[in-house]
Amino acid sequence: ANKSSMPQFIGAIDQGTTSSRFLIFDEAGNVVSSKNIEFSQYYPQPGWHEHDPIEIVSSVEQCIDGAVESFLGQGHDLSSLKAVGITNQRETTVVWDKITGEPLYNAIVWTDTRSADLARSLKQRLGSKEVSDICGLPISTYPSVSKLLWLLENVEKVQEARRQGRLVFGTVDTWLVYKLNGGTERNVFVSDPTNASRTMFMNLEKLQYDDRLRDFFRLEDLELPKIVRSSDLKAYGSLAGTKLKGTRITGCLGDQSAAMVGQKAFYPGLAKNTYGTGCFLLYNVGEKPVMSTHGLLATVAFDFGDEPGQRMYALEGSIAVAGSSVKFLVNRLGLAGKSSEISALAETVEDNGGCVFVTAFSGLFAPYWIDDARGTVFGVTAYTEKGHIARATLEATCFQTRAILDAMKKDSGKALTELAVDGGMCNSDLTMQTQADIIGIPVSRPAMRETTALGAAIAAGLAIGVWKTFDDLKGINSEGKTMFTPRIKEETRQYRYGRWQKAVEMSKGWLG
Ligand code: ADP
Repeated sequence: ANKSSMPQFIGAIDQGTTSSRFLIFDEAGNVVSSKNIEFSQYYPQPGWHEHDPIEIVSSVEQCIDGAVESFLGQGHDLSSLKAVGITNQRETTVVWDKITGEPLYNAIVWTDTRSADLARSLKQRLGSKEVSDICGLPISTYPSVSKLLWLLENVEKVQEARRQGRLVFGTVDTWLVYKLNGGTERNVFVSDPTNASRTMFMNLEKLQYDDRLRDFFRLEDLELPKIVRSSDLKAYGSLAGTKLKGTRITGCLGDQSAAMVGQKAFYPGLAKNTYGTGCFLLYNVGEKPVMSTHGLLATVAFDFGDEPGQRMYALEGSIAVAGSSVKFLVNRLGLAGKSSEISALAETVEDNGGCVFVTAFSGLFAPYWIDDARGTVFGVTAYTEKGHIARATLEATCFQTRAILDAMKKDSGKALTELAVDGGMCNSDLTMQTQADIIGIPVSRPAMRETTALGAAIAAGLAIGVWKTFDDLKGINSEGKTMFTPRIKEETRQYRYGRWQKAVEMSKGWLG
């Protein structure tokens, strides 16, 4: 039979902050099978947030087996699943023992702020400005290095492993690839540039580690994963276990880069905003990095190779708390039984009733970068009810997105004309309408919302030739978009945004 007429499928591991997933896509970008597992979140102290690295791997393996089982149940053949791509929560830091492959501590999650003091003193260290210029990130609790330095200062086991030359550090992509390849036996120790660019060890322009960065953090002796392309036939090895044993891993992208690829924001001027646990707006700036002077990060969008247009950079606006604030209303305040009900609760009132909620649970990220901000509800009166709090919570992400768009306009000199969205919280129509109202441009939501996983599948599929060019991807997920158009007047927009800016001022200085 003609090889190209045989159906081909690609698997995508999506290792997110709240859940792990495995999805199987066909060549047209349809999801034919998927499995999702929520895993444990540990908050041992205020501001601390951890995951169990072993559970990260086991949840992924269970998702693979679950999705493959239903795939086979549909009558598909295992051999038609050609490759697997990985996308993952970024910055989250894992340390393990080189000899045993055992984690030395829980994974410190990207939202974790225990390194606030450490970050403050690093900022004061000579050369801190140069460091940010090389890697594109401001010093804060957010990049992996802050978490790693905390581990080296505070955890005996980590210090001992370092002394004995057994300490291995990696982001979640590196940890997963290493473990999925079988751990200690076959030592695949790699990271892709979209992940490596979040550690603060990588020179953004060269896509290689920079000794000036390692020296600044006094980590000259630290062994780092090899940086390889986001799409590669060999570098990521293959699965050593699960029902997909032997299947190649040929793509790897940090979650926000994956969403960008899944939204097909391949060309300069295109952007996407993903409303997951946090919310991340990435704007494609082209083949050279653009350093922000307005509180945004410079990062790698994707690296598919040396040919023109295959390696792109982005400006990024990162919001630490988005969907997690919805979860907070559910799990901590008990305002509803599940996340999707918060939107309905918010609809029981007409507006926020004067309430503004700065959801700065782990400080404020872009474009503010205030480590010592804390959650602040502003404008509460005896009139305030649950619905107002729900509405103010959903609005918080929309206001921060507005602040990021303003900063992006200043950095790039261009204003966006439409915002492509995805992520769990974009399922709330109210939130998306509010978003369009607050930014004054249309918001466009795709029919298939698993764009992060799709991006990982695309990275993997490009490596093995399921798709050869970006043009081959044109038809994928392009039909059935929902458009939300702005419905409020400019004065109202300005007034509401002004209240937000005032509330941000009120949220500062909590640790001082
Ligand atoms: P991640 O990849 O970071 O784990 P997801 O994209 O899966 O995140 O989104 C999950 C988040 O979206 C959760 O924090 C949840 O509270 C929020 N969420 C999911 N559905 C809705 C909804 N209908 N309305 C508001 N928030 C939602």
